[in-house]
Amino acid sequence: MDVASNLQTIQKNITRACEANHRNKDEITIIAVTKYVTIERTEETLQAGITHIGENRLEGFLEKYRYFHDRATWHFIGTLQSRKVKEMIDYIDVLHSLDRLSLAKEINKRAKKQVDCFIQVNVSKEASKHGVTPEQLFTFVEDLQAYSKIRVIGLMTMAPHIDDEAELRRVFRDLAKLRDQVQEKNLAYAPCKFLSMGMSNDYTIAVEEGATHIRVGTNLVG
Ligand SMILES: *Cc1c(COP(=O)(O)O)cnc(C)c1O
Repeated sequence: MDVASNLQTIQKNITRACEANHRNKDEITIIAVTKYVTIERTEETLQAGITHIGENRLEGFLEKYRYFHDRATWHFIGTLQSRKVKEMIDYIDVLHSLDRLSLAKEINKRAKKQVDCFIQVNVSKEASKHGVTPEQLFTFVEDLQAYSKIRVIGLMTMAPHIDDEAELRRVFRDLAKLRDQVQEKNLAYAPCKFLSMGMSNDYTIAVEEGATHIRVGTNLVG
């Protein structure tokens, strides 16, 4: 399917989920995850009106960034190795995967400006997933105060690959609660307003549970 038709479907689903939950659909940012697709398909994505692009690997990120840089806001959604920070940090508008102090330290050393970050939380506690545990989150947030270039704009999670809707909902709801708790601390360096959650198979549920940023690859550009 062409990206424009896919986008229309996704927007319809978002609108429905928002109406059912008394949310404003303008609160939701759709990030097109272009990691599987070519420059041509990414061009089509931008033509369809998408302005947020997400990539999860250094090479893919730099390829798309170099080609389209001033036409999009650039989200890095994958695990970021500390030794790669210096090659790309100044091109990242939003990092979705802050998950350890050593990474914060490296970003603080290398970035020229403050970086908007989501803290990745491993809500489902799958061994294969990155992120701080819910128990570690509050100490982690406190420790980030030492790094002036880090601004915590929200929390991010990846839900398990399951069809169990109740379980998915629980994961998203837990992340929303954690977001509220960090936000209530009123920290200048951690406004923590946003929730990056929801992918192709679960973004509707994520929006129902408060997602502000959804990261969609397969169903949008794939
Ligand atoms: C690949 C990826 C996505 C998009 O996944 P789809 O299922 O293709 O929509 C979202 N978030 C992260 C972190 C990813 O790596």
